[in-house]
Amino acid sequence: MKLLFIGPPGAGKGTQADRVAERLGIPHISTGDMFREHVSRGTELGDKVEKIMAAGEYVPDEITVQMLEERIDRPDAAEGFILDGFPRTPGQVESLDDLLGEDGLDKVVVFKVDQDELTERMLARGRADDTAETIRNRFDIYLEQTQPILDIYEERGLTVEVDGNGEMNEVTDRVMEAIGATSDQGVSGDDS
Ligand code: AMP
Repeated sequence: MKLLFIGPPGAGKGTQADRVAERLGIPHISTGDMFREHVSRGTELGDKVEKIMAAGEYVPDEITVQMLEERIDRPDAAEGFILDGFPRTPGQVESLDDLLGEDGLDKVVVFKVDQDELTERMLARGRADDTAETIRNRFDIYLEQTQPILDIYEERGLTVEVDGNGEMNEVTDRVMEAIGATSDQGVSGDDS
């Protein structure tokens, strides 16, 4: 199963991607996590992206796409994966199409969380950049940048919406249902 998780900052999509990936026995592939790992290991790639990330800007596609390609070529991703944080731009959607084919993804899970709950969750994290105003700003940026990607996948009939409000276990159950996974490992339907 090849899945993409999309959701606003604070929606808990990374947490859910971890949990669902474990249940399905496939890797959770987060380009943000991969970049952070390179930075903490002090690799050449890490040195290149450190400043870009600190400024909250996007890493250039040639770096991001190559890193992603190497990751999904690894044997553990042969049976599927959950992408989180990639693609982020229409150009990256095209790159992913080149890598997987246009019908490569099985589902795109879109997390819907009330803005009030998002704000509450992010304020509870207590991060310096999590003021009510910057949260609103990041939410707007998310909507602006992500909508074109959602439009592409909606047109292909791949999107499923999941209510991300409420308790973590309940949200995981909703995701499993939305992707047609009926038991801890079992996935119903055509998983070719
Ligand atoms: P994230 O953990 O997904 O919020 O990503 C953290 C940072 O990594 C972003 O602010 C970008 O600098 C970089 N990054 C992660 N994914 C991508 C991507 N698909 N394209 C470009 N930059 C990315």
